[in-house]
Amino acid sequence: MTTMSVEIPEAARTFLTAAAQSILVGAERMPSVGGETIPTFDPATGALLANIAAGGQADVDRAVDTAHQAFVQWRQLSPAARGRVLQDIADAIEEHAEELAILETLDNGKPLTESTYLDVSLSAQIWRYFGGWTTKLGGLTLPVSPAVGEALVYTRREPLGVVGAIVPWNFPLMIGSWKVAPALAAGNTAVLKPSEFTSLSALRLAEIALEAGLPPGVLNVVTGLGPDAGQALIDHPGVAKISFTGSTATGRRIVTASAGSLKKLTLELGGKSANIVFPDADVEAAAQGALNGIFLNQGQVCCAGSRLFVHRDVHDEVVAALEAEAGEILLGHGLDEETQMGPLVSARQLDRVAGYVEAGVREGATLVCGGERPGGALADGHFLKPTVFTDVRDEMSIATEEIFGPVLSVLTFDDESEAVRRANSSEYGLAAGVWTNDLKRAHRVAHALEAGTVWVNMYNMIDPAAPFGGYKSSGYGRDLGEESLLGYTQTKSVWIGMD
Ligand code: NDP
Repeated sequence: MTTMSVEIPEAARTFLTAAAQSILVGAERMPSVGGETIPTFDPATGALLANIAAGGQADVDRAVDTAHQAFVQWRQLSPAARGRVLQDIADAIEEHAEELAILETLDNGKPLTESTYLDVSLSAQIWRYFGGWTTKLGGLTLPVSPAVGEALVYTRREPLGVVGAIVPWNFPLMIGSWKVAPALAAGNTAVLKPSEFTSLSALRLAEIALEAGLPPGVLNVVTGLGPDAGQALIDHPGVAKISFTGSTATGRRIVTASAGSLKKLTLELGGKSANIVFPDADVEAAAQGALNGIFLNQGQVCCAGSRLFVHRDVHDEVVAALEAEAGEILLGHGLDEETQMGPLVSARQLDRVAGYVEAGVREGATLVCGGERPGGALADGHFLKPTVFTDVRDEMSIATEEIFGPVLSVLTFDDESEAVRRANSSEYGLAAGVWTNDLKRAHRVAHALEAGTVWVNMYNMIDPAAPFGGYKSSGYGRDLGEESLLGYTQTKSVWIGMD
């Protein structure tokens, strides 16, 4: 366990003191129209970090109007010029990497190494990747057979208009980037609503984007509570599409609310991903992969490998490795360079996760390690020790519900078809992992799993080029890759009479 003797760097402190003006519309930072604020806390200490603007309907109206005005010019900018701006934003993110990583760690709690090498680094890659797409977003020429005469038909990929991006608190900068960058690449403008728990990096990203040359109004940020600012964005008739990442419950609410306006939706929702270790796997690598799969970002990862299916023959070996390694993970403040795991994002999330630990014990699973909060210097933060349960049965709540915390459920299986059937018996289908050295089995199982991403002999890998999203209740549409870009366009067929 590390101590809490960390200093907030000067640049971050200056930014935090002005955080009440956290709404960015056009090129201007401002407080909410109503003047209300929401406190945001350092989850490692419980200390107040800043008060941010609590935006609502009037703020969303202003941001959407501004985004509409900016859309007229932005969509007409040449693809090369638009791409260059996005690439410049990628460079600017890298130039501000340290500052962004510190803000992300202060707000979310994750270790600085994670903020730096995952959140910030991948965000820059995402802007660069979609910056490269602007000049490749072409249509088709189609071989039509009109009843009379001749026609030339071609398609165009046109932007939708104003996109509302609603992002969660687990990867605020990265998920914000993977929604906004493709939307902008396709010629849309955007209003970004970060989570009330982690709004700081989204605001700083938008400022950095302006400094890098993004025209004012193309990216606007409205901070505030989900049921206020978020709901206003969903209900706004001027918003053409909502791209959302968060809980399945809120996703369902968005589907219902958008029925009237028929807004387009991309929904990336919850998960209960299966990570399957076969007896022919490299067991040591599989145990490491399982740890990374569940403890990255304190387990607050939508694709976390929270159901670890281990073949009976290697069960004890894997569990022994998990127990030994989990006990060694160093908890602490994310800014402390020794820290390997930070706190959960909020007291609410800690309560929720602790509730699942109690349920696991009550329902008869064996608590192998963790399950409790550390004391001493960490007592005021929202920490929970890395937790591993064995003897988990499929019907237990810790095997069926998304916990979104550092809690691993280990289940035992005897053969491949059983593992696949039980892995697929979840309402979710976001991701899955397979550990095996049998090439045929690797492909066979990857094809059989009902999940939007399957990792073989690796876990939690993300790349701007690889689509990410869910089967079943894990949502629809895809983030990242070409598919996400196309989701921010609509196709127009143009018919030219040739007679
Ligand atoms: P939510 O789904 O409520 O939050 C996600 C985003 O939606 C946030 O920006 C939130 O804003 C916003 N939001 C909330 N309510 C509304 C609404 N009515 N209209 C529009 N936007 C809204 O998740 P929670 O923070 O409540 O977390 C609860 C559980 O959800 C977690 O324990 C986890 O299981 C799951 N979750 C899954 C995520 C994923 O990546 N798949 C991410 C986050 C949570 P605000 O935070 O300001 O309320």
